Amino acid sequence: MADSFIQTELHELRKEYQKELPGSELIACHPVSVRVKMTKTEYRQFDVCLQFPEGYPNTSIVVELKSKTIPEKLRDGLTKVCDTETKKLCGKPQLLPVLRLLKQFLDDNPFAICSEELSFIKKELITEKDQIKVKQKSGSISMTIYQDNYYFSFKMIVPEEYPAKQVCIQKVDDNFPKLFSTVFFNQAIEMARQCVEPPLKKKPKDAPFEPKPSLKLIAKFLVEDCIRRYPRDPCQICKDNAFPPDPKSVVTVPSNDRYIERVYCCHLFHHGCLDTFMKTPPFTGGKKCPGCKQRIYHDKWNITPRLAEERWAHQEAKRRELAEVVDFLE
Ligand SMILES: [Zn+2]
Ligand SMILES: [Zn+2]
Repeated sequence: MADSFIQTELHELRKEYQKELPGSELIACHPVSVRVKMTKTEYRQFDVCLQFPEGYPNTSIVVELKSKTIPEKLRDGLTKVCDTETKKLCGKPQLLPVLRLLKQFLDDNPFAICSEELSFIKKELITEKDQIKVKQKSGSISMTIYQDNYYFSFKMIVPEEYPAKQVCIQKVDDNFPKLFSTVFFNQAIEMARQCVEPPLKKKPKDAPFEPKPSLKLIAKFLVEDCIRRYPRDPCQICKDNAFPPDPKSVVTVPSNDRYIERVYCCHLFHHGCLDTFMKTPPFTGGKKCPGCKQRIYHDKWNITPRLAEERWAHQEAKRRELAEVVDFLE
């Protein structure tokens, strides 16, 4: 009786799988085991192995999922979901229902391929104050990160072809100084692009280029290296926070002493502090960032050490002259 029950299910599967499971390949279809290769995209795919245990259909069909791209943890979770479903089907056909369930999961779940990256984001990057909204169907993750009185909202969309294509990043809203939110954003987009496009200049020793997952990388960069960092980053000269505590009092006039300058090494300075520093000796070897000793390159102070020296000498001479005048007047 069990044998003919299984035979009927196998027959049904052979007849229906193309219609019921489009894009799948039936690799084996025997009473011993059934194997189906399910593919949504190059990366979103798994092999489903099914076995009829003793006593089937009064016992649950045994499901095993194999995949090089879908993380083990997710496959385990999915196997458990299948177990729960098949228990409900005790005594009834289970083969097609389980396959349908798995197919649906693969179709509806762009996050299947990046479940570990997503759980990293939820566990390591987000605090209770922040907000995260994950939409399975559209593959989008919306995040609002709060740091002191600053906030930054952005959206990441995982494309169908992920990770061969990079996550798409969209700016939503923020109260960071405008220049900063633009820079964060452009850098994130550039990093994501580099995950999937080979460098133009290839070094001969480089291994062949393989696209890398970009979701965790980008989220970590934006949250840790940008949004959490800058509201507390000190001016490298006076050591006060470069960002004012109240975002509304961010200075927008570039020549104002409290205007925030971000230099090549990513350290911050108050415009006034940096201006004095750049115009004060020693100049030999160029001015270096006190925080990291990297040379400071900045459009506003783009002059040679020699010119800086001359200007400083000139200014000193003027200051001395003025001091003499003051002495004279006293
Ligand atoms: Zn300062
Ligand atoms: Zn620096």
